[in-house]
Amino acid sequence: MSKYHHINSLIKLEQLLETRYEIPNRAVAREAVRSESFPIIEGNEAKDAESEKSQILSDSASDSPFRAEFEKFIFQHPLRFTDYLLRQIKRSPAVAKQYLPDPRELDPVGLEKPLTGQINTGVPGLERMYLDRVILMPTSQCFAYCRFCFRKNYSHDSREPDYGNPQDTFEKALNYIRNDERIKEVLITGGDPLMFRDKVLELIKKLRTIPQLTGIRIGTRIFSSDPELITEEWIRPFKKLNSTSPNLPAGRQAPISISSHLNHPDELTEECMRALLLCTQNRIPLYNQTVLLKGINDDPKTLIDLFRKLRQLGVEPYRVYMADPLKGTQYLRTSLDEFTQIKKYLRAYASGRVVPSFVVDTRIGKVELGTDAEIVQRKKNTVWIKTAYTAGIFRSMDPNWEIPEYCKQADDKSLIVEYEDSLPLSIKKKKG
Ligand code: SF4
Repeated sequence: MSKYHHINSLIKLEQLLETRYEIPNRAVAREAVRSESFPIIEGNEAKDAESEKSQILSDSASDSPFRAEFEKFIFQHPLRFTDYLLRQIKRSPAVAKQYLPDPRELDPVGLEKPLTGQINTGVPGLERMYLDRVILMPTSQCFAYCRFCFRKNYSHDSREPDYGNPQDTFEKALNYIRNDERIKEVLITGGDPLMFRDKVLELIKKLRTIPQLTGIRIGTRIFSSDPELITEEWIRPFKKLNSTSPNLPAGRQAPISISSHLNHPDELTEECMRALLLCTQNRIPLYNQTVLLKGINDDPKTLIDLFRKLRQLGVEPYRVYMADPLKGTQYLRTSLDEFTQIKKYLRAYASGRVVPSFVVDTRIGKVELGTDAEIVQRKKNTVWIKTAYTAGIFRSMDPNWEIPEYCKQADDKSLIVEYEDSLPLSIKKKKG
C-alpha cells in the first residue's frame, strides 16, 4: 500500500524535503524548496518569479504577511504525493512543476470554478453537461493533487469525504442513468477513482445492468502518480469484465476503457510504461488526455515525443486541453493563440495517428476551435466563442435551464460563450 504524504503547510513541505532527501537542516531545506524542487522558470519572468520566491521563503521574510498568505493558501489547497511521485519530483522539473506549490498561485486573476455549466442532476457526485454521457465521481480524493486541477478551488473539505452515503448515492446515480436512455456512456472519475479499485469494480458491475450503456470509462492519474500499484493481479478483474462471453451477443455489455492523464515524456518512466503495457496487453484499452501547461509541455517537440511514445505503448493520444481559466493557475496557462500554433505545428509535422484533438473546455462544454467552434469577438483577454450547443439541448436535460450571463444566443440559436484567455500575472499589483 502506498504511503500518501498530505502536506498543508510550507514548514511541512520543508520538513518532508529535509527527511526525504536527507537535507541536513531547515535552512538548507528551505533553499531546496526555493531552488531545486520549485519550478525552474526561464526568460525574463525568471528573475521576477525567483525574487518573489526568495522573498516569500527566505529567513528574513519568514514572518512577512505575504508568506503568511501563501501559508494559508497551502492550507486551503494542500499538497499530496505518493512515494513514487516524490522520486519523480526530485528527478524531473516537468513533474515537479505540476505538483509543487508556487507563490504565483496567489494571483487573483481567474475563476473560482471555471466549469459551472453543469445540469443539476440532483445527485451528489453525478455531473452532466452532455446528452449522451455523465460523470460519476465515487471519490474526491486523488493519489496526488495537481496544482492546475480545475477542482482545486472546491472547498478543501470536499477533498476529504466521499460524496454522501456511497450506497445511497450510487443507487440514486444508477436510477438517474437508467431513467434516461439517451445516456450511453459513463465516465467514472473524481478525484481518482482507482484509489478505490474495489469500489469502482462494484460500481461497474451495477452500471453494466443498465442495458443502454455502450461504454464505461475510468479517468485516472494512477500511471503517473502510483504506477507500481498496477500488477497482473490488480488488473485481472478489469480484464475479466472486458472479456467477451461467447454466450452473449457482441457488444451486449459496455466495455471498460481507461483514460490516462500524462502531460510530459518524463512521466513515461519504466514503472509507468510497464503499467500502461500491462493494461493494453490485457484487453483494457487506454486513451490519454494531456493538459497544455506553460513551461512544462508547451513545446511541440515535447508533445510529439510524448504522443509517439504513447502510441508505441498502445495508448491512443486522445486530447490536448487548454488549461482552464482557474484562479491561481495563470502562471501555467498558455494563450489560445499559442494553443492553436502548437496544434498547427503538430498537424504539419506528425502523423494524424499521433496528433490528438485540441480542446477548449468552456463553461457550457468542450469545443474544438476551427472545427465545431470559432472565436467571434475578442476584447483584450475576453473572447466570445460560438459553439454548436443550443439552449434546447440543455433544456432537454433540465427544463429549468436558463441561459447563463456568460452566454449569448446567436441568430441560428447556437450559444456564444464567454471565455477568459490567459492574462499576464497581476500578482505584483496585489503586493504593492
Ligand atoms: S489527478 Fe485529476 S482530479 Fe486529481 S488533482 Fe490531478 S487533475 Fe485534479
